[in-house]
Amino acid sequence: MTDYFVIDAHVHTYKTPEIGRQALSGFDMSGCCGTPEELVPIMRQAGISLAIQCNMTPARSMFEAAVAGLPPDRLETDRSAIIGKLTDRVRRRNEWTCQSAREYVELVPFLSVDPIMGREAMMAELEDKIDNHGARGLKVHPGEGHFFPDDPAMMPVWEMLAQRGLPAISHSGPDIANPNPDYTRPRAFASILERFPGLNLVMAHLGGGYYDEVIEIAGRYPNAYFDTSASLPGDKDGRPLLLRSKSLTDEEAVELIRRIGVDRVLFGTDYPWFHPGQDLKRFLGLGFSEEEKQALLGGNARRLFNL
Ligand SMILES: [Zn+2]
Repeated sequence: MTDYFVIDAHVHTYKTPEIGRQALSGFDMSGCCGTPEELVPIMRQAGISLAIQCNMTPARSMFEAAVAGLPPDRLETDRSAIIGKLTDRVRRRNEWTCQSAREYVELVPFLSVDPIMGREAMMAELEDKIDNHGARGLKVHPGEGHFFPDDPAMMPVWEMLAQRGLPAISHSGPDIANPNPDYTRPRAFASILERFPGLNLVMAHLGGGYYDEVIEIAGRYPNAYFDTSASLPGDKDGRPLLLRSKSLTDEEAVELIRRIGVDRVLFGTDYPWFHPGQDLKRFLGLGFSEEEKQALLGGNARRLFNL
C-alpha cells in the first residue's frame, strides 16, 4: 500500500480471459489476462484507487481483414454492411466498458471510436455514451486506424470534447500493429493542440520514445499531457513495448519527466501488458520528491479527468 492517491491512467480490460489473451497476442510477460475481476484485486493490493479504461476496438484491422477476401465487384456493395457491423462492435465494446465501470467503482470508462465508422456515427456514439452511460473521455489509436490526429473526420470529435471539458488519450509512438509511427509521433498532435486549446490530450507511452518531440510539444502546448504506460516497466529487464529506444533507467526517467513538467505526466501501466503492482513499485522508488510523486501518481489525473 502507498500513502498516495494513485490512479493508473492507462489500462485495458476485457470481458473474458480468452479475449484478453487474444489481445495480448503472446506479449503476456505480466502474467495478466485483462479482466476486471483480475485487475481490481491487483489494484486493491497495490494501493491503486482508480484505473482509466482505455479500451478500444481495432476497427481498421477488422475492416481490412473483412475486405481482404472479397472479389472486387463485391467490394462496393459489401463495404457498408461491413462498416455497419464494425460500428456495432465498437458500440458493444463501449457499452461493456461503461457497464464494467458501474460494477467496479475503481474503473473509469473511456470510449473508443474510429473515423471508419463515419462522422455521424462517431458523434452519435460519443454523445450517447457520455450522456447516458457515464463515459468520461475518449481513447483513440490513430496508428491502428491509419488516420492522422487532424483528420477532418476527427475535428467535430475534438471540438465536442473541448467544449464539454472532456479529455482524450491517444496512443503515441510506434505500434506493434502499425510500425509506421507518423500517425502518432508527438508532433502529429501539434495542430489539434493548437486549434483546440480547451482540449486536454494525453499522449500515451511518454510519446513512444520521441523524447525531443515530447519536450518540445509539452513546452509549446499547455494542454499536452503524457502517460508513462509501457515505458517504465516494473520489470526493468522486461521488453519496453512500443519504444523506439531502450528502456529508460530510473535516473533518465526522473530527468525526462522533470523536463516535460511534473504537472504534465500521469502514471499509467498499460495493464494487462504490464503488471500495475510491479510498475507502481518501481515508480515509488524513483528519485522524485513527495510532492512530485503526489502529482504524478494521481494528482494530475484527478485534476485532468475531474475525478
Ligand atoms: Zn494501451
